[in-house]
Parts: sequence; C-alpha cells; structure tokens
Amino acid sequence: SRSTSAVLLEFGSTGSHAALFAREMGLPCISGLADLVASVPDGAEILVDADTGTATIHPGDRQRVTFREDVERKEEASRSAREHALSPSLTKDDVAISVVANVGCRDDTQLAMSNGADGVGLYRIEQAYLGRVEPPDAEELFGEMFKTLEPALGKAVCVRLLDIGADKPLPFMKFLAESNPSLGRRGIRMLREYPELLETQLRTVLKLAGEFDMSILVPMVTLPEDMAVVKERLGQLGRELQISTLPKLGAMIETPAAALSAGEITAHADFLSFGTNDLTQYVFAADRENAAVEGYFHDAADAIFRLLRITRDDAPGVPLSMCGELASRPEHSARLLGCGIRTFSIAPPLIPVIKEAIRESYCGALPDW
Ligand code: PEP
Ligand code: MG
Repeated sequence: SRSTSAVLLEFGSTGSHAALFAREMGLPCISGLADLVASVPDGAEILVDADTGTATIHPGDRQRVTFREDVERKEEASRSAREHALSPSLTKDDVAISVVANVGCRDDTQLAMSNGADGVGLYRIEQAYLGRVEPPDAEELFGEMFKTLEPALGKAVCVRLLDIGADKPLPFMKFLAESNPSLGRRGIRMLREYPELLETQLRTVLKLAGEFDMSILVPMVTLPEDMAVVKERLGQLGRELQISTLPKLGAMIETPAAALSAGEITAHADFLSFGTNDLTQYVFAADRENAAVEGYFHDAADAIFRLLRITRDDAPGVPLSMCGELASRPEHSARLLGCGIRTFSIAPPLIPVIKEAIRESYCGALPDW
C-alpha cells in the first residue's frame, strides 16, 4: 500500500532524474510547475494526468468524471498487458525482442521480474555511492550490487559503471567545481581521472559474473579511447583473476560524437546502448533538468532517429539496445525496431505495455520516415 498517488515538482524537466525515479516507481509525475507550493492551498484536490502533463486544481464534477473514465481505460489496457507479461515478446514476423529493466534498487528488480522482464538492461549503480562520505570498497559494493540484482539471478544483467558528475554529483567529490558540468567530467571521463574508482567496480562486476550473466555499460562515451581504456583494464583484471570468459562490454551512445563514431567505438565494444536522455540533451543543447528549455528537449524528433540509423548503419551486426526513456514509449516501438533496436530497457512498471507494443509490430518492415 502506498499513500502517494502522484508527484508534482516546481523544478526539473521530463528528462530529469527525479522524473525517471518517479517513472521507475510507477508514480505519475509532472515537473516544472512554477509557484506550485505557494499557489495551491493545503488539502486541495488535484487531478494529475502525467501523460498530457496537466494538473487540474479544484476540478469540477465533469472533469472528475472524464478523468475517472480515462484512468479506467488506462488501467484496463495495463491489466490486459499484464496478463501476457510473462510470455516472450515476439514481433509479428516472429523475431524475439528482449525487454529488460532499468533498476536502481532491489524493489525495482523485484517488480521488473514479476512484470516479465527478460533481465536488467541498465543498473544505475549511483545509488551505492550517493549520500556517502567515502566511496564504497569492493566488499561493500559487492553487497549492495548483489542485494539489488538478486531477484534477477540466472538472467542477463547489465551494470553501468558509475555515471557521476553533472546532474549526479557526489558528496566526496565536492571539489570538482565546473562552470558547465554537463560538458565537463562525468561518466567515463571521471573514471579515467580516478582509475581506482573504475578498478573497484570492475573487480566487483567480475566477482558477480560468477552468479549472473553479466555485461558492463560505459557511460558518457565520446571517444573510442574511452572504451579502449575500460577494455584494457578489464582484460588485465581478467588475466590476474584467471577468468577466461569476460563480461560483454557495451558503450552508451549518449553523445552526438559517439553516435557518429560507432564504427570506431565498436572496435572496443561488444554492443551499444542508446541513452536518449543525454543524447537529446546534447543534440538539442537543452539541459534535461531545466524546465525552461523543455520545449527544446525532443527525444523522439527526426534528428534523434537519424542518429540512431546512422549508428545502426555504421555498426553492422553489432547488437543495439536502448535504455533511455524513448524506449519506454509504445507509440515509438515499431520505429525503434526499424532502427535495429533489439533490446528495450525500460522502467519496471512499463514492461508489460512495451512487450505488448512489440507483439503488435513488425521487426523487418521498413518504417516510413
Ligand atoms: C540516458 O542518458 O538516456 C540514460 C539512460 O542514462 P541516465 O538517464 O542515467 O543519464
Ligand atoms: Mg545518461
């Protein structure tokens, strides 16, 4: 039982992490509502439709009735999708598509599994680092990661290396004052500067690889060297620990440079995963946390799809997945299949709906853009 029905925020934007967390919990969330706290009296009734981004304060009787009907229609669609949630998602032309989950904690993984996820496609490990005065050591990190991933034992799980900096700052790295953090040291850039952080994570992942079908994602890749560094260190640790089969290594495609260099990047990567939240931020030069430029944050624009197709064509045969929020919007599933996406990694509550959208789509059909 949960007492919160929806989240309304004065700050932030659809691409912000607060919005992602709300989606992961299945909570309707609207951000960027200026003066909300000052203008809404305590105890006011509000109808929240996060699909259209409208919050109706003090609704009238008619509004209430229409809203209720809309909620019931959506609940019915979601109930019927959940009935088939545990069956595989085969496209109309019989291609098996993997639908996996974005998780940050054990509850997410548990919900994902009961909703029919084929595994974990993006474990955001930042949670193990946030709110700490010192980074966790290998043992602490193992404990935290095992706890989060345990419900997915036996399934494919993909751990993303620490993506700190920019919108995910860390208390023990306060000294990194940058005037433009989104364009500064974040993700792999930070890990290259602090190799001991990278090493702890790789050792932990190698230890977990004994229990899970493990792969690794590298965040904020811009240059092929960003991947080469991780691949080399992983290989060295594998030799040192005498592990013959290493986890597969993937590059997040979330900068325009990475999308336009897939050929070079895949020399050091086994698969690619599109992070459309950051990709949109960087393609449109629109801060994902800033509601004032929300009108520029178009994650389903042709400019984004064009980059997806360029990447697909420059990396023939390389498995493509998507873990940005675009992957969780059923109206785009068919088009994404056309761009070569074969793994959709999404918020746990949305897994049944996306599996259903995939079952209604053709994989091989050429989309009509
Ligand atoms: C993305 O950028 O699309 C992504 C999946 O990573 P995050 O939202 O954690 O930055
Ligand atoms: Mg990202």
